[in-house]
Amino acid sequence: MLIKNRSATQAINKRYIYAQDGQLLLSKQGDWLHNNTSKMAYADWFPEPLLVAEWAGEDIYLEVIAEHLETSLTPYHGRKMMSQLTGTETDLLGRALQLSHWLKDHQYCGRCGHSNKLLQGEYGMVCPACEYKQYPRLSPCIIVAVNGPNGVLLGHNKRFPVGRYSVLAGFVEAGETVEAAVHREVFEEVGISITNLRYIDSQSWSFPHSLMLGFLADYKAGEIVVDKTEIDHADWFRQDNLPDLPPSFSIARQLIELALKKQTKA
Ligand SMILES: [Zn+2]
Repeated sequence: MLIKNRSATQAINKRYIYAQDGQLLLSKQGDWLHNNTSKMAYADWFPEPLLVAEWAGEDIYLEVIAEHLETSLTPYHGRKMMSQLTGTETDLLGRALQLSHWLKDHQYCGRCGHSNKLLQGEYGMVCPACEYKQYPRLSPCIIVAVNGPNGVLLGHNKRFPVGRYSVLAGFVEAGETVEAAVHREVFEEVGISITNLRYIDSQSWSFPHSLMLGFLADYKAGEIVVDKTEIDHADWFRQDNLPDLPPSFSIARQLIELALKKQTKA
């Protein structure tokens, strides 16, 4: 996936993603990438077909269709579709969904309330009245797999399905370093202090605008005491007693697999 300046389109072929009411519109064959523009009315807040990225040699555009407009296409949940994709297709759809959320949530100037307009070329909105600019919102979020003597630390978040466990995660606070956020989140959520923090990888998580920054760490001290507001149970898990884990395309799962490998070696 190649992200380009919006005015610098070069690819000859174009394809289109249609979104409506937070869902994707699929063709009768189940395709989410369409060969032609939809020719349907756009949502009030959607200004024009928006270049998402160049992908597989084609320029891919997003079109957000007016809400409640009847179509012959099949609505399908974007997140569900993402879980069925792999590699750069996931990135492409994730970016399209994130841009769609951004446009919807930034129709008006956050400073004076006037209607915003798209900037030329850039992915940004500008207020014609006070010239305040707004760009797609990104929320940095740390996610960390902690290895201890009794396994990998996994927690059950209250929002998870019963039996599902994952590594700990949380948003970076204003004025905070990413590293400090990792130490703080782990201590807040389970009362453990950690050491040997190592950055591993990142993943854009477009639900709705997180940038996940993935780390591995080692247990330093403390007993598990869950915060009860986010995490209602946490424990150490080994390869032979794993609970239900997040889907394989998530960075959470990748960190868990990596931490388990290190456990085996230890
Ligand atoms: Zn304004």
